[in-house]
Formats: sequence, C-alpha cells, structure tokens
Amino acid sequence: MNMRRGRLAFQGQEGGGPVLYWMHRDHRTRDNWSLLYAASLAEGRERSLVVVHCLDPDYPQANASHFRFLVDGLMELHADFKAANIPFVELLGDPPARVVQLASSLDAAALVTDFDPLRHKRRWLAQVGEAVTCPVHEVDARNIIPCFVASDKCEYMARTIRPKIHRLLPEFLEPFPALPPLRPLGADSAKKLPEWSWEQVEPGIPGLPDASRSRYFVSGEAAARSALDAFTGGGLRGYATNRNDPSLDGQSGLSPWLHFGMLSAQRAALEAAVSRAEAADKEAFLEELIVRRELADNFCLHRQDYDQTSCYPEWARKTLERHADDPRPYIYTRQQLEDGETHDPAWNAAQLEMRLTGKMHGYMRMYWGKKIVEWTPSAEEAQSVAVELNDRWSLDGRDPNGYAGIAWSIGGVHDRPWIERPVFGQIRYMNYKGLERKFGVEAFLKKIQSISGGKARNSIDKED
Ligand SMILES: Cc1cc2nc3c(=O)[nH]c(=O)nc-3n(C[C@H](O)[C@H](O)[C@H](O)COP(=O)(O)OP(=O)(O)OC[C@H]3O[C@@H](n4cnc5c(N)ncnc54)[C@H](O)[C@@H]3O)c2cc1C
Repeated sequence: MNMRRGRLAFQGQEGGGPVLYWMHRDHRTRDNWSLLYAASLAEGRERSLVVVHCLDPDYPQANASHFRFLVDGLMELHADFKAANIPFVELLGDPPARVVQLASSLDAAALVTDFDPLRHKRRWLAQVGEAVTCPVHEVDARNIIPCFVASDKCEYMARTIRPKIHRLLPEFLEPFPALPPLRPLGADSAKKLPEWSWEQVEPGIPGLPDASRSRYFVSGEAAARSALDAFTGGGLRGYATNRNDPSLDGQSGLSPWLHFGMLSAQRAALEAAVSRAEAADKEAFLEELIVRRELADNFCLHRQDYDQTSCYPEWARKTLERHADDPRPYIYTRQQLEDGETHDPAWNAAQLEMRLTGKMHGYMRMYWGKKIVEWTPSAEEAQSVAVELNDRWSLDGRDPNGYAGIAWSIGGVHDRPWIERPVFGQIRYMNYKGLERKFGVEAFLKKIQSISGGKARNSIDKED
C-alpha cells in the first residue's frame, strides 16, 4: 500500500508487543487504510495486530441515536474481526487514557490511529502521543487523497483544492489490497487483553439500551455496502440533475455510513467509476464525494474554530457586521426552529425530514442554513443554532461536511461575495421563490407529509 496515507505523529521506542490499531473514525474491517497500514507495520516487524475501540460516554454532541447506530455497527465489526482472527477490544471511558493503558500493558510496537481533523480528536491524538512510549502513526482512511498530502494550507474554495486533488488521484485512487497474513497473538499478550462484552459496555452509555433504531438507515458495513450497490446499480443514473430535487431520491443517501466510517469513500468512488451511469452523473457524484468532501476536512484541520463565526473569511465577517442591525423579517426561538414551527412550510418540512429520518436533503440543507440567518438576531446565534440542530438531529452530523456546509450557508466560507442585500450583506442568498423555480415544492411537501403522517404544513407566506 501507499504508506503516504499515514504519517508519524509522535516518535517513540518500539515495544516488544503487537502493533495496536486504535479505531475511532473508520469503523470498518473492509477497505480501511488504517487497518491495512497497521497490518503492514505488523507484517514488516513480524508482530501480531490488535484492534481497539473505546466508547466515550461523553463524546461531544453524541446522543442515544448516534450511539445506537455506532454500537450496532461495532457489534457487526466485532463479529467480522472474530471471523478474520484479529483480536478486537472494546473499551469504555476516556479514550486517550484507556488506549494509553492498553498500549503500555501490551508493550505495543507501534500505535496506529485514524486521522480526524475535529478539535477533540486532535486533542485525543496529542494526549495519547504525549503519554505512550511507542511511535504513533495517524492514517487518513477517510479521504482518498490524505488530507495532509492534498494541501498544507486552508484552501480558499473548491476551485483551489480541485486541481491539487485531481493531480494526486492517479497515485491514490487505487484498488484496495488484501490484508497481509498476520501472526496470531501470543498467549502472554492475549492474557493482557481486557475482558469485555456488549452486556457490560451498553449500560455504560446513557440512554443506549432504550434508544430506538432508525427506520431509514440500518447500521453496519453490510447495510452500507447494499446501499452503495443499489446506488451504483441504478440510483446514480440521473444524479447530475436529480440530486438537486428534494422531492426525488436523487442523492446517494450514503452520508450516515460515510460519517460513521462504515463505508469507504474510496470504495464508493471505485464502484461509481465502473458503473453504467452516464459520464456526467459519475463526474457530478465524484465531485461531491471527493472534492467537496475532502475540502471539508481541509477546512476543519486548518480552521479549528470551524463551528464559530470567527472561521468566516474577512469579507464575510465585515459584510455581516455591517448588516448586524438590519431588521429581521421574522425572529424565531431555538425551540420554534427545532420544532419546525416557522411560517415557511418548505423549511419546516426540511427540519421535520431531518428529525424523522436522521438526514435532510442536501439542497434543502443550503436553504435551511440560509433562512436561519434571516430568522435569528445575529450571525453568532444563527451559527450556533444551525450547528446545534444539525449535530443533534442528523445521523451524519458532527462531521466536517456539516461544519463546512453551515459555515458556507451562513458565513460565505468557500464562496465569494454576491450582490448586497439586507441582513445577508454580500453572503449568497436563497428564497422560497428560488426553490419554486428549482423543483416542485408541493411534491416535496407531499413527500414529507407522507413520511410524517401529515405533520408538514402546506401553506406559505408568499411575501417571503
Ligand atoms: C447547512 C448544511 C449542513 C450540512 N450538514 C452535513 C452533515 O452534517 N453531514 C454531511 O455529511 N454533510 C452535510 N452537508 C453536506 C451535504 O449536504 C451532504 O453531505 C449530503 O446532502 C449528504 O447526502 P448524500 O450522502 O445523499 O449526498 P450525495 O449527494 O449522494 O453525495 C455523496 C457524498 O458526497 C459528500 N458530499 C456531498 N455534498 C457535499 C458537500 N456539499 N460538502 C461536503 N461533502 C459533500 C458526502 O460525503 C455525501 O455523502 C451539509 C450541507 C449544508 C449546506
């Protein structure tokens, strides 16, 4: 494999035990560059491999539905590792502390972990790196072009990162190799693996035992693969135009699995590339899946204030400041927004779709973010409400794509100045009439009504 997918994050003294792979972003046994990288280190050193995951009951913004989806996937993963004869350990508690404990008790030769640009994950890496004695490698198994290879600066917009990504694709968009043969774990090391069972682990997460499962997204690698096959086998046809119509199922619907790392974007790209879809559909899908998605990781890595207004470009901060005192046409409380109780049925329907299914349509996400700017007293409040609601209700929330998408909607990140108007200043604007020009709003409302049992409202204030 291409070892540029990983980098040595912390130097150290190799111990005499196995290589330890600490999984926390890419929850899959297949198509996982971190696992392949760890296996390759183990093979080169003639060591065995142990995989560890640690459930953190205090994981930022995670609720019982998120944990349910994660734990269901982990159970499947555990069975798959067992079948492959790779020891897998589940821990519960503060991940850096628990992983350091395990690495030292196993006298790990090296610790390999998933790259993740989010703040708490950068902190985890630093804490582990400072406390373990062995070398620590981070591997980017989420992106096709490793984030730290694609660019060493915060990219201004898709136009600036696209040529860098396209130049590197021939090197990195390669088929996945098989796992190399691994040495079995020695009896001494095996004795040091902590005993655990799901019965012990589940009650440690508040609300988990009673959390309901999504009717729309089934957790796990197998379900992710079926969804990908269905999409590349048919759904991808027409993607270039249909993806912008919220009344259709024109998107892939893969984001929950991609977010939880149960599906590799590289696998999705490889399958899309050989599908029978038209070239324009493949191109549009690969642009979102690779360029837009990798731009989001680039943004969060280089702007650790990715969820605050300070991450907006200077022109956007200035224009929003100039319009800070503009009268807002409507002001809604957080609760009214969360409950989808605005005057705008399309917005309410989108909010309801997110609450009911765990995912809002991509086109409505843009409109949803823009309207929050108009209906809250300040950009700071809009930013904070949008992040809170998206992270709480979306299965694919708490993700760089979400932080970049919200910063784009509200703060002009990855965008350019547009014609000046009230409240928004030069931030790109969207309105209800624009939705009507783009797609059949009534058909979208009917779709949401049918899944909501009639809750979505049908009237609109036409003055908006
Ligand atoms: C306000 C706002 C909030 C958003 N919140 C999230 C979020 O919480 N999680 C999330 O994954 N995406 C988010 N997005 C980006 C985008 O809307 C979703 O990725 C997409 O709708 C997911 O549905 P899909 O998998 O069916 O997408 P498809 O259109 O089928 O695209 C396939 C994959 O490409 C990637 N992708 C597509 N569009 C984008 C984009 N604009 N930016 C980055 N990656 C993209 C995603 O990984 C997606 O799963 C947000 C966008 C906005 C404007």
